[in-house]
Amino acid sequence: MKETILGVDVTDKNYKEISESIIYDINAGKQSFIVAVNPEKVLKAQKDEKLRQLLNQATYQIPDGIGIILASKIKKGNIRERVTGIDLLFKISQMAEQHQKSIFLYGAKPEVNELAKQNLLKYYPNLNIVGTMHGYEKDEQLIIDKINESKADILFVGLGSPRQENWIIENMKKLDVSIFQGVGGSYDVLSG
Ligand code: UDP
Repeated sequence: MKETILGVDVTDKNYKEISESIIYDINAGKQSFIVAVNPEKVLKAQKDEKLRQLLNQATYQIPDGIGIILASKIKKGNIRERVTGIDLLFKISQMAEQHQKSIFLYGAKPEVNELAKQNLLKYYPNLNIVGTMHGYEKDEQLIIDKINESKADILFVGLGSPRQENWIIENMKKLDVSIFQGVGGSYDVLSG
């Protein structure tokens, strides 16, 4: 179920429910887009109609911020648990390892992207990371081709917000990928 907080949709699903749902989406051949919603984005979306529409186009808007939980409580909604972008990245990686789904890491500086990959593999040694691409490549077609050639099921996009959300919406249809998650600065955290 979704709740609307100041015009922005947010899911009431928790980590387990979202990660199970995305495995279902992959198996069903569905494309899904995960976006993190925090109070800053909700406030910005009050004045920025394009941003509001962008956020509402996603399949899963995760409650990434305690302010979202408070807003839901005030509205007598059901969102009780925070779902952060980085923790969902971990949970999805764990599910991907279990269900043999493949992953592509797009975004961040080349060395950060490489370290993020190495560290993710320390947590999930059998995770199938089929490709990586740093976030400063200018040749868009090269990026699309590389992702499609990898045949990844899941694509994490870490270009910062709202760049990554715009990129996902613009390229989803060209990509043979099932799950898209905007992960912001998660690679930087993972590489540290
Ligand atoms: N980034 C990128 N390409 C760009 C601009 C930014 O890959 O053209 C990366 C940057 O290296 C960093 C991330 O996007 O890893 C942005 O992180 P930030 O914490 O600013 O994003 P937020 O979580 O605030 O959306």
